Amino acid sequence: MECPRVLELKRRFQKGPDLSDYDLVIIGGGPAGLTAGLYAARANMNAVLFDAKDVGGEILNTELIEDYPGFESVTGAELATKMAEHALKFGLKIETYRQVKEIRVEGDRKVVELVDGTIHRAYAVIITVGGEPTKLGVPGEVEYHGRGVSYCAVCDGAFFKGADLAVIGGGDSAFQEGLFLTRFAKKLHLVHRRDEFRAQAILQDRLLGMDTVHTVTPATVKEIGGDEKGVKWIDVDRDGTLERIPLEGVFIFVGFKPVGRHLFKDHIAHDENGYLITDQYMRTSIPGVYAAGDTRQQLAKQITTAVGDATTAVLHAERYIEELKHTERAFPQAPREVAAQTASRMRIFTYPPGAVVLHEGDQPDHFYVIAKGEAVVTQRDASGVEQVVNTLHPGDYFGEVGMLRDQPRIATVRAKTSLELLALDRRAFRSLVSASQATADEIARTAASREKRAEEAAETGAKR
Ligand code: NAP
Repeated sequence: MECPRVLELKRRFQKGPDLSDYDLVIIGGGPAGLTAGLYAARANMNAVLFDAKDVGGEILNTELIEDYPGFESVTGAELATKMAEHALKFGLKIETYRQVKEIRVEGDRKVVELVDGTIHRAYAVIITVGGEPTKLGVPGEVEYHGRGVSYCAVCDGAFFKGADLAVIGGGDSAFQEGLFLTRFAKKLHLVHRRDEFRAQAILQDRLLGMDTVHTVTPATVKEIGGDEKGVKWIDVDRDGTLERIPLEGVFIFVGFKPVGRHLFKDHIAHDENGYLITDQYMRTSIPGVYAAGDTRQQLAKQITTAVGDATTAVLHAERYIEELKHTERAFPQAPREVAAQTASRMRIFTYPPGAVVLHEGDQPDHFYVIAKGEAVVTQRDASGVEQVVNTLHPGDYFGEVGMLRDQPRIATVRAKTSLELLALDRRAFRSLVSASQATADEIARTAASREKRAEEAAETGAKR
């Protein structure tokens, strides 16, 4: 099933065949996913975005957004459409109503299996699936879900015109959604377990200033009750006294549970609340897997932070994919999962033409693979004259002699053109070498032949 709005946008903007092998799979079509998709499409990456529902994610449940810069006031649906349209215009492939069942790691690829049985492989995956509302966990909540219990005012508010309602919670969501519900509610009870609210001051001023709003604090909901037609009351505990509040709708906004980690077959690092742990590049504990937006452990769940995180994630993912491809070209014998780990540990160094990358006699600290450009290798002969002994091209590596023997560099390497290098520190180099005998042998052979050439060059100089 495909959403008509996205189908129309796809018809207008999408090009290219359906592929199941991608550079990048983005999972989740909220602001983070759509931003990642936009950047991926603009970078001409072979990328796809899957969403279990329609694009927009959580913002579809928000009526008005007033804190997204440049949009003084915009509806969630409008912003979602604009974001999707923007990404589609740049060629992003968006697949709505395609739910992901499981993600697993196979060698250097992530395998994304959908509930419909299709399998998609990619070098990198960005998880932007957000989460789901936290449940109160009181009697009646499950029973009356859809018959008076709701987690989305924008979706269900209009069914409660002229009714007495309750909003449970004291955060931004409770206040935002509460404001929306004041359009329909005869009376709106704001039930919160503390006297202080954590919602932004501007939202508090607006909601608490309304005549129809009645605060019930500090109060804990104990039970939701009603009859066959739906909810009729809630019982709240107020300072040890049980109070029954008659009403017809209960809107619960007591937080949010991230869902990203449940997609993984293998372990992925997360905190005690289930949020995926990332570094500053949005890398998770699995090489090639990134997380952005509300499913990631972070300070603020805002649209602005989600789009920023997603930008970082996709820019880093692009580099990771490049590094992985270079690693696989340089070390075709290395097991694919080792290539993925190596690529995730690489750092990128750039040099202008003529710059010295390493000096003969320096202590070794990194091992390098050339990603872009050319480098010239020189060695001093016995009389101290610098001789060019080699020119290195993309895919070539250097620096292995010092790292293997733990001895000073035997040559000087300079950038011949603008040079982009992928660098491995000692630990990452050691794990590359120790993980594959064939790769270790290949690097040892190269080191031996370079040492031999250095000796010959020195002898040549001595004879002159
Ligand atoms: P939240 O900020 O975590 O607030 C949850 C509220 O529910 C808190 O007031 C909490 O009480 C209460 N609560 C938690 N567990 C409860 C329980 N078991 N029983 C009763 N009450 C319980 O969650 P949120 O409001 O969904 O917001 C999530 C994030 O999205 C936040 O970072 C928020 O800023 C952001 N957001 C932003 C906007 C916006 O317009 N910028 C809109 C919506 C959400 P305590 O206060 O006592 O802990």
